[in-house]
Amino acid sequence: MSACLLGKRVRYDGGSLSMDDQLIAQWRNEGRIVSVCPEVESGMSIPREPAEIVEGNGVDVLAGEADVVEKGGGVVTEDFVSGATIALELCQRFDIEIAILAEGSPSCGSTFIYDGSFSGNRIAGMGVTSALLRRHGVQVFSQHQIEEAGRTIDALNE
Ligand code: SF4
Repeated sequence: MSACLLGKRVRYDGGSLSMDDQLIAQWRNEGRIVSVCPEVESGMSIPREPAEIVEGNGVDVLAGEADVVEKGGGVVTEDFVSGATIALELCQRFDIEIAILAEGSPSCGSTFIYDGSFSGNRIAGMGVTSALLRRHGVQVFSQHQIEEAGRTIDALNE
């Protein structure tokens, strides 16, 4: 699960997206959640410059056909791919089949990201970590799909 959704202050601006959800609280109490911030795991700082994928999405980044670029122009594609790889390694180490990642992020977005213009324009697509996890069979949900994720977990446990 995205670390920022668990209240960890790892976002680019030093904040979190902490959420109050009964299912998440239950999974936490059961010790079933593994927390990761791909960007911080890759060595990026807190705070850090906001970054967006330019002319593409996470799938394009993995294919080497798009870059992740900071607002100031720095290219951070390698950091994002490195962070996604660390998240995948965690999934493989702990046999994780379900990920709940923060929507809209160039790493963790699963249904939309921003268009690379830093003007708040959303486009359909996923971030680099979501793309890599899905490529390897991990089902990715956003924080707006917790119940759906729960139903999927129940189905996997049947
Ligand atoms: Fe949250 Fe993912 Fe961004 Fe880290 S990379 S702050 S976990 S959305």
